Order: sequence, then structure tokens, then C-alpha cells
Amino acid sequence: MSDDSSWRRCSSCKTPIAFGAQHWVCNVSTCNRPRTGLVFCNVSCWDAHLSVVRHRESWAVEKQAPSRADWEREQSAQAASSPHASTVAASPTERAPRRILPPPTPRAPDPLEADALIVMSKLKNYVRGRSGFNTSDRVATPLSDAVRGLCDRAIEKARAEGRRTVLDRDFE
Ligand SMILES: [Zn+2]
Ligand SMILES: [Zn+2]
Repeated sequence: MSDDSSWRRCSSCKTPIAFGAQHWVCNVSTCNRPRTGLVFCNVSCWDAHLSVVRHRESWAVEKQAPSRADWEREQSAQAASSPHASTVAASPTERAPRRILPPPTPRAPDPLEADALIVMSKLKNYVRGRSGFNTSDRVATPLSDAVRGLCDRAIEKARAEGRRTVLDRDFE
């Protein structure tokens, strides 16, 4: 980096990441090659790289950038490529990585599961068109649960066929 006030730049949005700053990396090893590894200024930038690369299971890992002194020591150790460079490079400031997004665990009860999957305005229009009846907003919850159940079954079918795309026929 020519800008020596920061350590690296976010691989998604190019925001500078300062020395010693909290940032995020991908748990997937191909995203963490030495020197070219991806770093992200926040979890949504990590999320953004998932649209470019496809991971089977992935999560963001919280990291702390090396201090400038550690980083410079690491750079010169690598330049010298002495046999014990890798032990020298181990940063004493690095904290144990903390997983932030758990790998997908199907069926774990999750507060996000309460999200409505139903477009209520369209549903109300449908019911009104069919019957002239009104529809309570609260039907969003049981209907969304039913859609989630159907999706979970379709996901299992796709998985059983080795696909990572859910198709219309998975709902048959
Ligand atoms: Zn970013
Ligand atoms: Zn990745």
C-alpha cells in the first residue's frame, strides 16, 4: 500500500483499514492466501464477496490488523525469507479469532425466522378479490412459517441431488 497511514484496504469497498484496526476476513482458506488475502472493513463487505465467490460454508472471522511495527517486522522478515520468518511473523497482538456468522445450521430456531415472507398487500388483494373478505396482518406469521417449511423441504431435495440451486420442481 502506498498510503502508509493504513495497513490495507477493504477488498470490497476499498476503505482503508488502519494498523491495529478491527476488521473481518473470510473463514475460507482460498480467500486468505498470503499477501493477496481478502480483508473487509465490516461484515456486510464480507457478505458482498459472496456474490463473487461461492462458498459451501462460510462465515466472517473478526481479526485485528497488525500494529505498524509488527507489520514492518513481518515485511522485512518475508523479504529476508529467513527460515524462521514464519515464527517471527506471528503477531503477538493478534487475538483469538471470533466467529461472527455461524455456519448454516438448519432448523436452529432463529429470531430472524420471524421475518414475514409474504407480501401482505398482494395477499390481501387476492383474498378480497376471491371473497370480498379482509385479511388480518397476523396471518403473515403462520403463512411465512408454512413457506419456510416448504422451502426447507425443497432445500433438502436440491441437496439430495447435489444441486445448490432450488428449482421449481423441488416444490412438487
Ligand atoms: Zn468495506
Ligand atoms: Zn470468502
